[in-house]
Amino acid sequence: MHNSKFKRITAVAVMAIAGVSAMQAIDIKMYSGVADTVYSATQTIVGATAPGAEVTVNGVKPRTNAVGSFAMKLDLNPGANNIEIKAEKGGETAEKAFSIFRAQPKAKTGAKAQKPQAEATFTTPFFVLSTPGAYLQYGNGGDRLGGSKMGFIVPDIPLKVVGESGSLYKVALSERRWAYIPQSYTVSADQAVTPVVTGSWSVSNRGKYDRVSVSLPCRLPYYSYTRIDPSTIELELYGAMDNSNWMVQRSMDLGMVDYVYFEQPESDVYKIVIKLKEKYQWGYSVNYEGNVLCIDVRHAPADLSIKGVTIGLDAGHGGQYPGAYSPSGLTEKEVNLDIILRLRDLIVKAGGRVVLTREGDTGPSMTERKRIWKDANVDLAISVHNNWTSDPLSAPGTSAYYKHLFDRPLAEALLGRMLETGLNLYGLTGNFNFSLNGPTDYPNALIEAMFMNSIEEEELLASPEFRQKVAEKIFAGIQDYLRAVKQSKAK
Ligand SMILES: [Zn+2]
Repeated sequence: MHNSKFKRITAVAVMAIAGVSAMQAIDIKMYSGVADTVYSATQTIVGATAPGAEVTVNGVKPRTNAVGSFAMKLDLNPGANNIEIKAEKGGETAEKAFSIFRAQPKAKTGAKAQKPQAEATFTTPFFVLSTPGAYLQYGNGGDRLGGSKMGFIVPDIPLKVVGESGSLYKVALSERRWAYIPQSYTVSADQAVTPVVTGSWSVSNRGKYDRVSVSLPCRLPYYSYTRIDPSTIELELYGAMDNSNWMVQRSMDLGMVDYVYFEQPESDVYKIVIKLKEKYQWGYSVNYEGNVLCIDVRHAPADLSIKGVTIGLDAGHGGQYPGAYSPSGLTEKEVNLDIILRLRDLIVKAGGRVVLTREGDTGPSMTERKRIWKDANVDLAISVHNNWTSDPLSAPGTSAYYKHLFDRPLAEALLGRMLETGLNLYGLTGNFNFSLNGPTDYPNALIEAMFMNSIEEEELLASPEFRQKVAEKIFAGIQDYLRAVKQSKAK
């Protein structure tokens, strides 16, 4: 994540990742905390100089690390505060001076609560069709990850537009439910859809997945989610009323599906419930073949060892998207890639298959990264990023993220091993709205290994040995996950 949420005060030389800083003659470059005017009583300043240099800030030694970064929290007096930074190494010196003005706090103009965006309601609704990459949002809000996604939907689904909010259409899913869709993921439709009745169901084993299909007179919007106890997939179909008087189960040898049933929680909301045989899920894909809704539920890989699975790996950012910078000039894109390539080597050495979203300094889009994994039919996928903190003097630690509940065990397994590095626990976060956590087609998780601008963690990120350790821990986490799945099946 963390697309340069901070201002780079001076140009920082982008250096190749190595255990040492590439900074040559002694110099002081400020990274954050330099400001003309602030309203708070303290200000944390961060900068970098030659590794090993003696640094003082107004005569006091700041916190430093092995790659030459330093940070200090300063108490500010009201009015002008002069700050003088000195660095000395081997007889060479550098100085930097600036002033920060502490002003009276501004009168509070009221909390800037996130209020929903203004909305226009259309008196005459009309229909649009979803286009490739479309997704529905719960609300019309947004943040750096975009509005909170309900899920992706396939193309050519007619949606009833009842209003507009910014660049979003408000679409009615049923009498009482609505969602939002970016207008850019729609084209106009001449087709109008009113509630329809469902046709025949069928459940069959297709080799590597079980298919649950329901025939419909037309495509309808849907929203799906998973539960883990008991292990189920639920899909709500909007604008459908049950008329299926039987469900044909064609195979008695289903690989993952135990049984299916439906509920009609509202007159125009039809819910398909797929109860699974196993505790661990391997993902599912929702598609339409003509007007037949198909939910393909993946079987567990036959060989639950590293050799038996294809693992999707993603190094965050790349190319023109550097991600976060560290004070000494490491870029997140480089660190992410280095960890991913080390992880790839470990997996390949153990006989596993890997599918990378990028191998070099390129910046494929999120859609492209997801397409690469889906086309390769990966069994599980991991994305690696590094974070950015507002408190560089802290060591917030490591964290794992997932969106869907069935991804939680993978995220938990990876995080459990990451903690063995000695890093602090920053957290395990669910319902995460990161694009690469969106697909339901395979279990996936995001690791934010460390914080780029934490003085303590930057030193670790700059160490090839520590990055190797991180790769080894993620690798061990994958193996733990596979072992847990295997053990659950043995019961
Ligand atoms: Zn990132």
